[in-house]
Amino acid sequence: MEKKPLNIIMLGRSGSGKGTQAQMLVQDLSLEYIGTGDLLRKFSERDNAAARRMKETMTQGKLAPSWMPFFIWMEKLAYTDINKGVLFDGSPRMLQEAKTLDEVLEWFERDNIKVILIDIPREVAYERLMKRRVCDACKKGAYVEKGREMAPHCLYCGGELTIRSEDYPEAIASRLDWYDTEVVKVVEYYHNKGKLITISGEKAPEEIHEELLAALKESGAIA
Ligand SMILES: [Zn+2]
Repeated sequence: MEKKPLNIIMLGRSGSGKGTQAQMLVQDLSLEYIGTGDLLRKFSERDNAAARRMKETMTQGKLAPSWMPFFIWMEKLAYTDINKGVLFDGSPRMLQEAKTLDEVLEWFERDNIKVILIDIPREVAYERLMKRRVCDACKKGAYVEKGREMAPHCLYCGGELTIRSEDYPEAIASRLDWYDTEVVKVVEYYHNKGKLITISGEKAPEEIHEELLAALKESGAIA
């Protein structure tokens, strides 16, 4: 029997490594990547009133209104082959978005849905994010193993490593707080619907990827 196209929703704390897992799945299963954050950024670069308003919102460090991702998803899905699977990364960030996304997928008759939670404790996420740096020159990411006062250089180009503003302690704490108050409701929602696959994120990326594929097979989502 022909499998219906797979629709994956990635959840996990910031620092869980879900972005890496998302990329590996997109590659392995030839899925269309729908990164809400990237799409919203691209949208904000356009020349129209809504885009300018969106740019203002993002510059102020505020969240996009809950109906905005819906608009972005619709546009992306409208141009995606109906037989191709998709992967949502960076959303839903709140219960209302999850419910709207369900309606969107239902409307497109995309009912083979699996929600993947890359699970790591808050303290582990905090530790990882505090070590995160970015190279000023080549923009590649890096992790430092020692304290923040150390300033090692980029492994690829020798450039200066700096801390992204989103990785300052207050910004990290506020993102992790958001997860604990809002995203946990989304996790519970999908758990209750029997769509949730939970994998520990405290392993090597390749190992997590293998576990994920095995879990997707076991659930009947892929052949
Ligand atoms: Zn570099």
